[in-house]
Parts: sequence; C-alpha cells; structure tokens
Amino acid sequence: MNREALVNDLQRQQAAGWDIIVIGGGATGVGIALDAVTRGYKTLLLEQSDFSKGTSSRSTKLVHGGVRYLAQGDILLVTEALHERGRMLGNAPHLTANQEFIIPVYTVWDVLLYTVGLKFYDLLAGRLSMGKSYFISREKTLNRLPLIKPEGLKGGVVYHDGQFDDARMTIALAQACTEEGGIVLNYFRVNSLLKNESGKIAGVRAQDVESGNEYELHAKLVINATGVFADEILRMDDSGSRPTIRPSQGVHIVLSNAFLQSDSAIMIPKTVDGRVLFAIPWYGKVIVGTTDTPLDTISLEPEALEEEITFILGTAGKYLTKPPVREDALCIFAGLRPLAAVPDNPQSTKEVSRRHKITLSPSGLLSIIGGKWTSYRRMAEDTINRGIKAGVLEKRKCITRNFRFYQGLSADTPERLKIYGDRAYEIRHMIDEKPELGEVLNPAFPYTKAEIIWICRNEMPRTLEDILSRRTRALLLDVRASLAMAPEVVSLMADELEYDKKWQEEQLDAYNQLITRYI
Ligand SMILES: Cc1cc2nc3c(=O)[nH]c(=O)nc-3n(C[C@H](O)[C@H](O)[C@H](O)COP(=O)(O)OP(=O)(O)OC[C@H]3O[C@@H](n4cnc5c(N)ncnc54)[C@H](O)[C@@H]3O)c2cc1C
Repeated sequence: MNREALVNDLQRQQAAGWDIIVIGGGATGVGIALDAVTRGYKTLLLEQSDFSKGTSSRSTKLVHGGVRYLAQGDILLVTEALHERGRMLGNAPHLTANQEFIIPVYTVWDVLLYTVGLKFYDLLAGRLSMGKSYFISREKTLNRLPLIKPEGLKGGVVYHDGQFDDARMTIALAQACTEEGGIVLNYFRVNSLLKNESGKIAGVRAQDVESGNEYELHAKLVINATGVFADEILRMDDSGSRPTIRPSQGVHIVLSNAFLQSDSAIMIPKTVDGRVLFAIPWYGKVIVGTTDTPLDTISLEPEALEEEITFILGTAGKYLTKPPVREDALCIFAGLRPLAAVPDNPQSTKEVSRRHKITLSPSGLLSIIGGKWTSYRRMAEDTINRGIKAGVLEKRKCITRNFRFYQGLSADTPERLKIYGDRAYEIRHMIDEKPELGEVLNPAFPYTKAEIIWICRNEMPRTLEDILSRRTRALLLDVRASLAMAPEVVSLMADELEYDKKWQEEQLDAYNQLITRYI
C-alpha cells in the first residue's frame, strides 16, 4: 500500500465516482470494503486517523464465540461468532492462533456448571470446533497454571478459543482491499455528506488530513462504519437524529509473563461485578482485562479510570500467587465498545447484546453499529446484502467466507515474520543483503530495523505512533521500551519517507505526550 499512489488513484477516479464509500477504517469498515471490492463493486474507504486507531486495535485479541454471552443465553450471537471464529482462523492463519484457556474452579457446583456449559459451547461450534473442553484435576491445573492460588482449588475446566493480532488483521484486510482494486486511505476525514436534489445521499465531502485538500466524492451508497462515532455521521445526515450508541469502556493491563508463567490463559468466569476476567499470553507478555464502564463522552484516545485499574489488579490478585501492583503494568490501554443504546435502560451496557445492527436512513445512509471483531466478516456480508436489498447495488454474491489472506511462508523465512503475510520473505532478503538490518531495536521486542523499513514501504504508516502502536505492537506490549526505541524508529522512518529533522522532533514530542495515557 502506498498512500501517494492511492491519493493519485482517488483523483483519477473522482469524476466517475464509486459504487460504495465506506466511512471508518476499523474492523467493521475494512471488512465491508473487502466484501464490497471482492463482489466487484468500485469501493473507496476513508479513515480519519490511522487504520484501527479506534476500538479495533484495543480489543482483548480474542477470536471467540464468547463464553460470557452463552451464560447470558445469547445463543444466536455465540453460534454465529463461533462459525466466524473458524473462518477467521482458516483464512488468516498467520495472524490467529488456537489458545488454550483454563477456568479455575473452587466449588463442586462450578465444576459441573462450567464442564457442562463448555460442552454446549463445543457443540455450537460444530465442525469448526477448536478442540474439546474437559475437566482437569487440581494437580494438573497447578501444573499448567503454576501461579494460580491453590487454596480451595478443585480443578480446572479447559477449553479452546482463538487469539489474534487485531491491528495487524486490520492492515491485512486493508491491504487485501487494495490488491483487489479498492482504494483505502488513512488520515482522510469525512466532514459532511453530499445530497442530491431529492435529499438522497450522493457521496461525501472529505479532507486529506495531510495535505489539507478537500474533495467531493460521489457514490451510489455511503456506509457509516465509524464505531462509537456513528452518531456523528448520523447527525451529518439528520441533525435531529437520536443517539444510537452507548459507549462502554474496556481496559486492559499488560504484565510481564512472570505473573502467569504459562502458555495457557486463565478465564475467571465471574468477577464481583458479574463480568469475566482474562489473563492471556500474547507476544510473550500477559494481557489482563477487561472492564465495562458506561461513558458519556467518546474519544480516539480513551484513558483508563483509576477504579478500572484498581478493579483489574485487585481481581487478578485474588487468583494469582504473585498479585500484580500498579508499578508492574507495562501498559494500560482502554477501548470503547460501540454498543447499541437501549432506550429504556440507557445506563446499562452489560446486558446489551453484542450483535450488530444495520439501519438505513430515509436519505439512504447505511449504518452499522455494534458487533464484535470476530464477526467482522459476517457483519460486512450483512451490510452489503442490505445495500442490495435496498435496491442501491446490483445483486452480486459474497465470496469472503473462504477468502484466504495468506498462502504460507517460504521455507527459509523465520516463522516470526509470518505476521507480515505472504511477502515476509522480502524482510528476510533485506537482512540477507544487509545483515545490520537484522539488528533488534530493543531487547524487549523481536522487531528489527528491516521490519520498520519494510513497514514504511508497504503498510502506509504516517506517524511514529502508527508504527509503534499498530504495525508493531510495541506500545501495547511495553510502553517504556517502546519509548526507548522511538528515536531509532523515527529516524528510519524519516529516511524512508523523506521527512526532515523537525518532523522527527515533532513525532517524538507527540509520542512522549501520547504514552502518558498508557502508563
Ligand atoms: C475493551 C474491548 C475488548 C474487546 N475485545 C474483543 C475481543 O476480544 N474479540 C472480539 O471479537 N471483539 C472484541 N471487542 C469488540 C471489537 O473490538 C469491536 O466491536 C470492533 O473493534 C469495532 O470496530 P469498528 O470498526 O466498528 O470501530 P472502530 O475500530 O472504532 O473504527 C471506527 C473508525 O471510524 C473512524 N471515523 C470516525 N469518524 C470518521 C470520519 N468522520 N471520517 C473518517 N473516519 C472516521 C475512526 O477514526 C475509527 O478508526 C472488544 C471491544 C472492546 C472495547
């Protein structure tokens, strides 16, 4: 992906217009754009910031049906998500993995409840099951989870779910869109909607945030896939439109693996506030979370509340022999769930179904809200089908069920580089030619200079943060170590993208500011 080339394409195609313009470059938007472009619709996607800058890089990183939603009786959601889980693992094996979870159980009733409940979870997954669930003894539980508190432990219930890299999955989807002929642009903000004489939406007015240039871009169908920002776009359509989103914040704390010392994840099925808490190994660290805090304000950079941090540390401390404290946090990150508002119970978010909701406004704006990362493909299919049903698009069949993002690594490319997809061998070639590019940038991470250069050439990062937070995951894995390698990364970026010293200083300043929100 090359931003300059894509902006040129946009200018060339502007007069002819598009079939579909998607607003929002998170999981929902890039999923829709890929569905659209692979059906043969001329497609443009505009993201105001970086791809997955919003919620889509801040998830728990689970590709799952949602054991919790099963407990709530949302069978339809769980079944759909379990099927999508299977498809995502099949189509993007380089960014997903089968993860073992253990529920530690402390009463005979819980042994029974979770053993039976998870058998039902297996059953719903059908042939897309990732491995059977089963009960293990107290001894085996302590073998697999050596740091779980042993007092009163009866045993553990083992089950399997998927895990993934959310931000890199967004890039893989965006990349696939461009390979199929679509245009996807980051740092391109939609400021208003264009309407024709009969009041129907005919496109968008958008601004290239980098150049400041403004564009009128026409399309048969405009899709609002802006997550927690959906109401802003709905108000561009109708200034009196009622709120449809109830944002709910979820926080995660990243700890060193010294707190888990296991390849198995822990799932605590019932915290004092009735939620679940996970401690999951991820890229050599442990992600612990999450919370569910209704908020009245939305932001691209939400910040953890003190009570959320206390809650996560306190709950984890009840189950771990080495209770984590605030100073142990390598990173604290927050994300906002775009939940559909419940008009008669606006304060509650726990009970709100995570199923997606698609609406078509009288002027023809198609909006999708809610949903889960796991279901992004199905959400995209439903959205485009709705556009067809509305008579705006000619009928064409969805082909993403078996759309593979990855064909495999060449034998001599290190397994670790597979996160960069089919062209990972190019990074290996760069290192073969110039061995100094194989140097890691900081001992806390495996990332090499070659990767940063390759990312600059292929994945459209525009800021230091884009690389440290979403192309690599350095920011989320260890804030301080990411800061230590920032000067070298920004200098590699500046060489590659031809930026001057002043730009480098500005980027470092901005990054220094940003990290205060993550620690
Ligand atoms: C704490 C937490 C944990 C989660 N864990 C999981 C999990 O483990 N598994 C799972 O399946 N799901 C999980 N989810 C749910 C999942 O992350 C979200 O459903 C999904 O990421 C939402 O994606 P989205 O594209 O709708 O929104 P976003 O990712 O927020 O994308 C919307 C985009 O629209 C852009 N935008 C807004 N306005 C404009 C404009 N005017 N012009 C251009 N662009 C604009 C924004 O910049 C933003 O990037 C979790 C959610 C949270 C909050």
